[in-house]
Amino acid sequence: IFPDGRRNARGINLNVNSQFKPLMAEMTPFFERDYSAGPLVGFDLKDKSGEQHDVICPWDHTRRIGKVRWTSAEETSRAIDVAWKAFPDWNDTPVEERAAILERFADLMEKHMPELMAMCCMEGGKLLPDGVAEVREAVDFCRYYAARAREIFEAATALPGPTGESNELIMQGKGVFATISPWNFPIAIFCGQTVAAAVTGNTVLAKPAEQTSLIAHRVIELLYEAGMPREVVQLLPGDGATVGSVLSSDRRITGVAFTGSTQTAQLINRSLAARENAPLPTLVAETGGLNAMIVDSTALPEQVVKDVVASSYQSAGQRCSALRVLYVQEDIAERVIETLKGAMAELNIGDPTTLATDVGPVIDEDARKGLQAHIDRLKGEGRLIAETEIDPAIAANGTFVAPTAFKIDGIDALETEQFGPILHVATFKASEIDQVIDTINERGYGLTFGVHSRNETFTNHVASRIRVGNVYVNRNIIGAVVGVQPFGGQGFSGTGPKAGGPHYLLRFANEKTRTINT
Ligand code: NAD
Repeated sequence: IFPDGRRNARGINLNVNSQFKPLMAEMTPFFERDYSAGPLVGFDLKDKSGEQHDVICPWDHTRRIGKVRWTSAEETSRAIDVAWKAFPDWNDTPVEERAAILERFADLMEKHMPELMAMCCMEGGKLLPDGVAEVREAVDFCRYYAARAREIFEAATALPGPTGESNELIMQGKGVFATISPWNFPIAIFCGQTVAAAVTGNTVLAKPAEQTSLIAHRVIELLYEAGMPREVVQLLPGDGATVGSVLSSDRRITGVAFTGSTQTAQLINRSLAARENAPLPTLVAETGGLNAMIVDSTALPEQVVKDVVASSYQSAGQRCSALRVLYVQEDIAERVIETLKGAMAELNIGDPTTLATDVGPVIDEDARKGLQAHIDRLKGEGRLIAETEIDPAIAANGTFVAPTAFKIDGIDALETEQFGPILHVATFKASEIDQVIDTINERGYGLTFGVHSRNETFTNHVASRIRVGNVYVNRNIIGAVVGVQPFGGQGFSGTGPKAGGPHYLLRFANEKTRTINT
């Protein structure tokens, strides 16, 4: 429960045996969603030229789990027309009405939690606990942003002025927002961005990641059931090169809320800037990380390894917050590495619907190939510390990557984020700590960071000097909670403001001062 009485969705419980398992048993043999009719938009679809795609389960390639039709460039442009026309009325709709839709939507997601979890497993390859976390976070975003929107938008702020004049500050939506999201949080991030843009009075074109289009369809169906008008939020499934680039190059788009890789954010930024005769846009970008953790010689190796394994390998390392580089002080490095090897040998890799599984698949073949190339290169350099075994039968049927750990000299050895279960380990001497901090800062990413130590002076020093968005002391570095650990980075990792934080909605709003001569 938040101090103001709002319910935190961490309290939601799902009875796996009585709710989820029967549902999976019922759905698995014929789990197939047909979304081949096309995007969910506020006009009648006539042109059906968008490409049809089969959706294949990432951990069982023999199973087709759905069909989806991607939005054509022409449909994308028509959806922008609709959003543009719908903006003035939606912006005038009382915030209470807009916020109430978010709360009904949150209730509906809770009600449909087993189904949404099943979809996360089937399409996103997520483990059951990750599916629970996914729905909880989406629910939290809806309730938190509904509450914040009421605080910010309900009444104008009266400002002082001379006698005979009234002054006030009013918050309003900006216009038409494109929300472009990644596949790794197909409900939480997709919903968070979309509802934030809508509750602040903007009309929204939501473009989910190609890999998780079925989930996005189901979520938007629930949003409509909660009362969101179709022309206010439209769903445009499709690829980045078509739908994404039509959105970021259209002059009627007022803002883009993007979460994904740093490279794609840079493309969108350039595309928005290159538009002729377009008003200056808003870009909210939450991007990748090369996240580090520093462990000094006073840390407890068992606790360190528990947190390192969770941070590096949970969700198969497919979290923007995941740990990529572990810096261990030389004095305890051997003990930490030996304990890490033992822990990695215990990990179970496989089918995400099985409760014993620790690490599921990576999202698709492109991801697997990219990660495997990195693994092969480091193995070729003789850097392997440990690799968890995968049953060959499991590996053959899906896009699995074995958790690995490699020895490297430092974060500079890594060119880009490797978005999977790969950990890099470097060692340092006590006298080198400031050099390590400088190297991490100069590398330029700034998302999450961890420090493990029982020396408070040390943790305070490191936590204060490091330039990142989220610092975690003596715990894992993943799983930020809405309203509790507002999430987002700096530098190559994003523009801010922080998702799930008190200032997030302000980026979606314009401030207007009204002066009346009374
Ligand atoms: P991605 O950049 O490949 O794709 C993200 C979205 O952008 C997708 O919807 C994609 O279709 C779209 N897109 C691609 N090209 C585009 C273009 N030219 N114009 C407009 N849109 C385009 O990222 P991904 O592989 O889906 O997700 C993984 C990445 O997301 C990782 O780098 C991860 O760190 C990052 N991420 C960051 C956060 C955060 O909060 N900072 C959260 C989750 C994921």
